[in-house]
Amino acid sequence: MHELSIAESIVDIIGDSLARNGGGRVRSVKVRIGELSGVVPESVDFCFKAITAGTSLDGSTLEIEKTHIVALCDDCGKESSVEGLVFRCPKCGGANIKVISGNELQVVEIELDE
Ligand SMILES: [Zn+2]
Repeated sequence: MHELSIAESIVDIIGDSLARNGGGRVRSVKVRIGELSGVVPESVDFCFKAITAGTSLDGSTLEIEKTHIVALCDDCGKESSVEGLVFRCPKCGGANIKVISGNELQVVEIELDE
């Protein structure tokens, strides 16, 4: 289960960050997930809730933002964000594009209770 390992990574990242910043109670976490990872945000949210139940993260909410796939075109040299899996350059129609972003998992923001 891909989503479960992603949820676990998110929990790890939060744990590290809390340890560095002296702890606190997490209210919400903003995560950015690349569209290319093929992850279903609802499933990540579900797994996150399941593995944080009964822990200090119980009740915190996950906000998931999907980022577009960014491709670089070899024909015209431009970067574009592509929707879904249409691997053609939107600028010139060329097929010689390579994906340079869209596979990331990033915890953008951790909001703590005051
Ligand atoms: Zn192009």
